[in-house]
Amino acid sequence: MFNLEINDLDKKIWDEELSDFVPEKVYDVHTHIYQWQSNLDKNKNTGPYKYQGENFQNVSFDLLNKVDNELMPGRVVERLSFPFPYNYPCDFNNSNQYVSAQTNNHQESDNLILINPMMNEKEIIQGLQSSQAIGFKPYRTYSKTGDITNCRITDFMSEEHIKIADEKSLIIMMHLSKKYGVADDENINDLIFLSEKYPNVKWILAHCARSYSAWGIEKAAKKLRDLKNIWYDCSTVCESDALDALYTGVGVDRVMYGSDDMIGPMRGKYISFGMAWSNINENNHSLKLDHCDSRMTFIRYEQLRAMKRGSRQIGLSVKQKNALFYNTAKNLVNSVKSLY
Ligand SMILES: [Zn+2]
Repeated sequence: MFNLEINDLDKKIWDEELSDFVPEKVYDVHTHIYQWQSNLDKNKNTGPYKYQGENFQNVSFDLLNKVDNELMPGRVVERLSFPFPYNYPCDFNNSNQYVSAQTNNHQESDNLILINPMMNEKEIIQGLQSSQAIGFKPYRTYSKTGDITNCRITDFMSEEHIKIADEKSLIIMMHLSKKYGVADDENINDLIFLSEKYPNVKWILAHCARSYSAWGIEKAAKKLRDLKNIWYDCSTVCESDALDALYTGVGVDRVMYGSDDMIGPMRGKYISFGMAWSNINENNHSLKLDHCDSRMTFIRYEQLRAMKRGSRQIGLSVKQKNALFYNTAKNLVNSVKSLY
């Protein structure tokens, strides 16, 4: 079983840097709830997600609460949750039913269904109804092209599905593909085209629009900032520069806190260099660190540090901070639920 141990380093960072930044009420707009059994890959115990099988086979609402209680003591957290997007073969039905069962006991929280571009309209509508979901979680790994690195939005989410989201004013949690993420011209043009053609869709661009450094969103913000149906979550982005570029580029009122749990409680950091970004953790580096305290803290804390320090230039008022952590997300999900 996954075991969180808060050590003196973690405690120091929380107490000295973060506890005065995180408000009492939090809406986490990017949370995964899942069961290992939804991963139908026969070789899953040696596959890319084997860390899940080894550490936490079921990520329930209660486990997420436990993690948040440890990492952000005293905070009350509501969530927008959706399944973990396992590669094919994935049990979509079980994935969605599990999230729904976990979330429906928590009236203040909401859920999205995991979809793939092969699903027909009937399956999608049934999935929405049986899960009482307020939108979709597509993912690039389900691209019709088979190329998960260079696919366009409509390669992994059919336009018919976007049309359903438009008719029902649903949320689409969008993790962009392509090597330059949101800085890719095709992605920018697709977002402009799709948001103009389907104006009722509420897009959330995950991970600062997949801009783990400043350059991506710096380029895209000029073109996306006027689109009224796009929001951004800052889950797992750990560089202040990226958050600064997002806050100043699209406006902090479009930005929402998200954890991408169970990523937050892992130790490490998402770092960037050149035009690249990656997770660095205790098991994948060979840096010589004798000159300093070499321990790593939680990705959650590195993200919160970046959210805090990235706001130096704009200066967050209490109202803006509460919006960033709660009100913007709450208003967004309520705007969808009120139409249901
Ligand atoms: Zn995620």
